[in-house]
Amino acid sequence: MLHNYNMYGMIEDRIAIAGAAPAFVMPDGSFVTYVQLGAEVGRMANALAATGVKPGDRVTVQVEKSFPNAVLYLACLKAGAVFNPLNSGYTSAELDYFLGDAQPSLLICQRSSLGLLAPIAERHAVRATLLLEPDGTGSLVDLAKSQTADHTTHICAADDLASLIYTSGTTGRSKGAMITHGNLASNTAALCETWRITSSDILLHALPIFHVHGLFVALNTTLSQGARILWQPKFDLDTALALLPQATLMMGVPTFYTRLLSSEAFGRQTCRTMRLFVSGSAPLLAETHIEFKDRTGHAILERYGMTETGMITSNPYAAEGRLAGTVGYPLPGISVRVADPEGKVLGPGEIGVIEVKGPNVFKGYWRNPEKTKAEFRADGYFITGDLGTIEPDGRLSIVGRAKDLIITGGLNVYPKEIEDELNAFPGVGEAAVVGIPHPDFGEGVIAVLAKASGADGNRIESESRIIEQLAGRLAKFKCPKRIFIVDELPRNAMGKVQKADLRTRYGQTFKS
Ligand code: AMP
Repeated sequence: MLHNYNMYGMIEDRIAIAGAAPAFVMPDGSFVTYVQLGAEVGRMANALAATGVKPGDRVTVQVEKSFPNAVLYLACLKAGAVFNPLNSGYTSAELDYFLGDAQPSLLICQRSSLGLLAPIAERHAVRATLLLEPDGTGSLVDLAKSQTADHTTHICAADDLASLIYTSGTTGRSKGAMITHGNLASNTAALCETWRITSSDILLHALPIFHVHGLFVALNTTLSQGARILWQPKFDLDTALALLPQATLMMGVPTFYTRLLSSEAFGRQTCRTMRLFVSGSAPLLAETHIEFKDRTGHAILERYGMTETGMITSNPYAAEGRLAGTVGYPLPGISVRVADPEGKVLGPGEIGVIEVKGPNVFKGYWRNPEKTKAEFRADGYFITGDLGTIEPDGRLSIVGRAKDLIITGGLNVYPKEIEDELNAFPGVGEAAVVGIPHPDFGEGVIAVLAKASGADGNRIESESRIIEQLAGRLAKFKCPKRIFIVDELPRNAMGKVQKADLRTRYGQTFKS
């Protein structure tokens, strides 16, 4: 018999076993069992077919997080359609580009964005547009309700497309990463094994689902094991504090953890049922890791991944092996190396670009063979664009994005080294170090410091005092020439600091 690599198969198999166990627990406490989830996904898959969506067709979705939005994702997998989620923050020009590039046959949006999207959809000959509102109602849901639950899961090869996800594109145009069923299935299996996810787990799900972290990592791992999901529309501190004592597992971006720590009510009692806290999508400050451990007894497990590759490395499950400031070891079946810009593989301890190979690595950029070719080595390794270093035992640490590397007076400065120093100063919440044009040095180093939250932030010292103290600790060329103190750093929806914004904002600093 032909093996079906459809990622939904891993979840469908579990539905038969998990049966009446709750799959999704809604914010109001009501729940949807695994059997009910299977029926909803079947109806939604039939609704897709009813609008003319065929296997391989793109379904572009720009809506707030809701339960039917998760069902729609699963239904796309089941039907062999390509799920194409878009962040709700995009502008009209960006949406025009995405719809023109993805050429979906179906668009799902909210009534509030119909005025903006309808003409764009028409221009790009999108066949149908249906609505899905943040409260889970809308014409898509109505159509699904009128369908039967019986639906035969589409048979997929491992390299058939499951999803098209546009990269955040901080430099140049966003590119559509083609993620296959084989990518998702292999990453799901590797993560379930590494993080020991079982049907006894209860996940607090507060991440968005237009991004790999909340979508693939969180949903595929838990649903394929028959675990329970405490479904939240977004991260809300008070709700998280109330729900954590019912949960065993949380997946978050670093800002979730700093926000939990900002509450005096958060501590060991809140975490009494917790088994594992996972962090990723942006660097977790060593300070946060340490403070979290002191407060709760839990060592946050940091992992590293990206849209194009899914998850690449993880700190080990054994708590004593989870080290602050490192992202751990390659997941089973994945190879990681560090190379120079020409592709020469570097030895332990040397800093270079992280390259990855394995069943997790995407198929390429959508309709962009040149870009795809440029980002792969001849032997199949994908060039991540992140800088890192591998210790002799294979542990990886990230130093930053290659494009954030600063070259000042011909010398390389790795922002993370300076950020680590600055983060240890009193009153500093988080430091961001960037290079901006400088008349003598090409680039000049500057630092932007966000004050720590609450009264602690008042302890921050003056620019000159900080520069004076750094002078004793860092070589002169690495020391920031200017330090700016702000209340908050600019971040994207995943909590990543937007360094390109900082370079623009402070770009004129050294202009005479
Ligand atoms: P995205 O494609 O939006 O998931 O972004 C992927 C990028 O996020 C990676 O290339 C890294 O630069 C960054 N990233 C993800 N996880 C981590 C981590 N644990 N530490 C530092 N950076 C990370």
